[in-house]
Amino acid sequence: MNEAIKGNILTPSGWLNGTISFGERIAGIAGASADPGANADDYILPGFIDLHVHGGAGKDVMEGGGAVHAIAAIHARHGTTSMLATTMTAPPEDIDLALTAIGKAVRQRGKGEARVLGAHLEGPYINSGKLGAQPNFARAATIEEVHRLEKLAPMRVITVAPEISGHLELVRDLADHGVRVQIGHTLGSYEEGVAALDHGASGFTHLFNAMSGLHHREPGMVGAALAHAEFAELIPDLLHVHPGAIKGALRAIPRLYCVTDSTAATGMPDGEYMLGRHIVHKCMGGVRLPDGTLAGSTLTLDQALRNLVGLGLSLADASKRVSTNAADYLGLQERGRLERGAYADLVVMDRDLKLKAVYIEGERCDLNDA
Ligand SMILES: [Zn+2]
Repeated sequence: MNEAIKGNILTPSGWLNGTISFGERIAGIAGASADPGANADDYILPGFIDLHVHGGAGKDVMEGGGAVHAIAAIHARHGTTSMLATTMTAPPEDIDLALTAIGKAVRQRGKGEARVLGAHLEGPYINSGKLGAQPNFARAATIEEVHRLEKLAPMRVITVAPEISGHLELVRDLADHGVRVQIGHTLGSYEEGVAALDHGASGFTHLFNAMSGLHHREPGMVGAALAHAEFAELIPDLLHVHPGAIKGALRAIPRLYCVTDSTAATGMPDGEYMLGRHIVHKCMGGVRLPDGTLAGSTLTLDQALRNLVGLGLSLADASKRVSTNAADYLGLQERGRLERGAYADLVVMDRDLKLKAVYIEGERCDLNDA
């Protein structure tokens, strides 16, 4: 199986106009450096990488079983070529069920599905005073429990509130064996954020949302992120964060990357859906709890890219924010970049940034398969 496609190819060293050939991996890229504004050819970009996905197509990761396959398939049709299936704060048996299914999906990717790289454990080790849309099953972690959960599925990212007693030791333990520990759902102070970073935390979960905000005499967790973070995730659906705050974060955090935090309602009509143990309502593109709290999104990363370009980012910069930076955060050298030897994870977009084709490890995904 060898394919070759032509267009404006975004490589680590800039735009080339030419041909990319690939099987499961990229075999070669031939062409001349070019300003894509000077022609009318398609864009060929690294496949999108989403490190925070709860659901889609009416399915929630917490259902376990085959739900994660349906979720990986709908996101693939929006250009996501690899992702982390993300759990909700829940009773232990629910988390076990979800992680067991994620572990299976990691071992076997189905046709037309994004590669599931592992789990993002979003809670239960969060602050019950800053739940956002998480059900109130928050509790303090024990290292033994986390090590048991890691056996069910590869744990790539874990969100914790560092101010909870015992959590700084957990941060150190997890960071020491390669888990990316993110600060989130937290009431922690600026100082507690800096302490967590010193103990090995390396990211922030949906920056600005569900964390103590910035005040100039009390900079809070947002202040810790803006002052010190190299990486942080952000939801650019333009509902969760004001465009001005997004622009500020882009100036402050060098490798800010975007996630969807997408729920079962993604790709579905308005109506009621499950988010973990909560019922949520989708209306006019927003997903909310009955009290109006935002409860994840219906965002997909192709729309995230268009939103970033709409905010004034160059396409090359926007592409990094939905792909390369997330790969770098996880330490994945073979994804998130179009270069010889990397996985052939790529998207083709027309001049209006509408998806024309998606390839996952060289396999072309059927975009119309509902
Ligand atoms: Zn989430």
